[in-house]
Amino acid sequence: MQKTSLALPSPVEQIVVDDSPFYLKHDERIHPDFSGNKARKFHYFLTHDFPEIRRVVSYGSPQSNAMYSLSVLARMRGWVFDYYVDHVAGYLRENPHGNYARALANGMQIHTTPRPQILLPDTLLIHEGGRQVEAEYGVAILAQEIADWQHEQGIEHLDIFFPSGTGTTALYLQKTLSTIHHPPSTVYTTPCVGDAEYLRKQFTILEPDPHLWPMILDLPHKYHFGKLYREFYEIWIELHQQTGVTFDLLYDPKGWLTLLKHRDQMGQHLLYLHQGGLQGNESMLKRYERRFSHAYKDKTK
Ligand SMILES: *Cc1c(COP(=O)(O)O)cnc(C)c1O
Repeated sequence: MQKTSLALPSPVEQIVVDDSPFYLKHDERIHPDFSGNKARKFHYFLTHDFPEIRRVVSYGSPQSNAMYSLSVLARMRGWVFDYYVDHVAGYLRENPHGNYARALANGMQIHTTPRPQILLPDTLLIHEGGRQVEAEYGVAILAQEIADWQHEQGIEHLDIFFPSGTGTTALYLQKTLSTIHHPPSTVYTTPCVGDAEYLRKQFTILEPDPHLWPMILDLPHKYHFGKLYREFYEIWIELHQQTGVTFDLLYDPKGWLTLLKHRDQMGQHLLYLHQGGLQGNESMLKRYERRFSHAYKDKTK
């Protein structure tokens, strides 16, 4: 049987990047299979009783971190996992790898048919990327861990930074910290999926009071989610060389580029949240190596 207990609170260590010190909270170490951002957002579904539920239904991309984490959750809970995608690329279908292969190994049933609009009472529906109100439960635990740690360290004011997809984590973290800690820490984030306007829309859906929203920082250049950028690959390698830490290749490169650019306008004590996603690196790395490895090796000669 798969281990279902999570190693919480996740540890915090100090790292140095470009001569600046940062605290790094290691949410990627929560559990070997169920970790990071999605473990926080799906925590509620791991620790509550669902006597009627036999099945979980979700939809999205065939390489998503949420899909993989749901396959782990379903396996831990003995639920059937039905996942709906528009399309699985021929290459991926014939050479399963990354999140897709791991989710299939956990028993995920993949469907390319339209997802059923009417669900039986034994079925739990999880929206794309894990954007649901139940996420607040796990993110509130994360907020309490950070507040406790900050108190132990005697840090008066803490700034927190991490990149966003749907913005669910950043929003609930800022909101919870505002109620449990005075003066509240400031959560800074950057949009990776849409732009700042998209992120503000997401925040509005989850919380109408803008005083409880995170601060949005961005870069002048527009990046498209899931696309390959040389500067992303380079900072990812650079971060590994400077800190020994493996970051995720989808969100963290934009995160760190944004953070380093705005470092000076933030306070002395800055915590970066490692949100996991490392199992997704396998497929990203394959793509990056095919595209840039040659050029990169030339450059480092
Ligand atoms: C899902 C995910 C995010 C985005 O989280 P949101 O709550 O949607 O903003 C960031 N990083 C990693 C590694 C993720 O898996």
